[in-house]
Amino acid sequence: MARAWTLTSRPVGLPAADNFALVEMSSAPLADGEVRVRNAWLSVDPYMRGRMNDVKSYVPPFALGEPLTGGAVGIVEESRAEGFAPGDRVLHMLGWRDEAVGSAKEFTKLPATGAPDQMFLGILGMPGVTAYFGLLAVAEAKAGDTVFVSAAAGAVGSAVVQIAKLKGMTVIGSAGGAEKCALVRDLGADAVIDYKAEGPLMKKLKAAAPDGIHVYFDNVGGEHLDAALAMARDNARFAICGMIDSYNSLEPLQLRYAMRMIAARVTLKGFIVTDHFDRLGEFHAEMGAWAAAGKLKAPETVHDGLEATPDAFRALFTGGNTGKMLVRL
Ligand code: NDP
Repeated sequence: MARAWTLTSRPVGLPAADNFALVEMSSAPLADGEVRVRNAWLSVDPYMRGRMNDVKSYVPPFALGEPLTGGAVGIVEESRAEGFAPGDRVLHMLGWRDEAVGSAKEFTKLPATGAPDQMFLGILGMPGVTAYFGLLAVAEAKAGDTVFVSAAAGAVGSAVVQIAKLKGMTVIGSAGGAEKCALVRDLGADAVIDYKAEGPLMKKLKAAAPDGIHVYFDNVGGEHLDAALAMARDNARFAICGMIDSYNSLEPLQLRYAMRMIAARVTLKGFIVTDHFDRLGEFHAEMGAWAAAGKLKAPETVHDGLEATPDAFRALFTGGNTGKMLVRL
């Protein structure tokens, strides 16, 4: 029997195990134009937390009692759709379950690049696209810039560090703990900040970038955004990608250095990865070439088994992942 995770209640604060339930789903015969896929890798992502709240946003909230959705990679088991055959490896959004059934348009065949399949959920997939266009299009970062990136050991952050270095920028990455900081260094960062170590973040950033920063790639919000404002050079550009520090919090965001936006003429621009899907060709060309040349590292943290999915998701908010958080089925 196929199984899927559903949301039983809306989390308040950090999601709890009992906000989720694993249910059995009947496997109906395929209709014309449909494909049945055995999922091999599931992605859990911080944005899913926002979809667990019953609020209007850029994507509708998850419905209670319905299978959750999310990025996944799997292998076609059965097809009644032209262009798909058993054995094809596909990317799709019917995650949080072991078997995905949908119309052919919901599935994209993975290119035969030799890259491991799960990389298409990480640096060669949505998080990579977020990093690439957030840095280069939203923040308009260019060679010679000093770039500060938070959650630098995570999926998006680790891609930002590498893209920025490949493009000739100076990179300061912030992450929680010595081990993650060592990874960020290993990815090429010029300086690292352990934000969990003793001392104010602003002082640590000042020590790493005494002349200030041209670009901030924000994955965290909160104190990180405040420190970046404090150290913004004139005309600095901030790509506001995520604010994970606030996702489980009911406290208002407080910025001590907000007025630096005025004096330093800072541009803050929020964005959603899908804004840039019309330019995916550029992403695949450049990132594909770097990957083929062995220039990209794809750190990952893997949890095994469908049962582990909510725990893997919840661990995103306590720093339980280095690189892309994945569930292997
Ligand atoms: P990550 O792989 O970076 O995982 C989350 C990481 O965030 C954790 O490992 C942890 O690392 C860090 N973190 C969690 N809580 C806090 C906190 N309170 N303060 C500081 N760091 C914290 O996730 P992703 O790479 O998938 O996503 C990164 C960000 O990008 C998220 O905010 C996400 O919502 C956003 N995003 C936005 C998109 C868009 O379209 N705008 C698309 C994709 C992602 P550590 O141990 O270092 O604390």
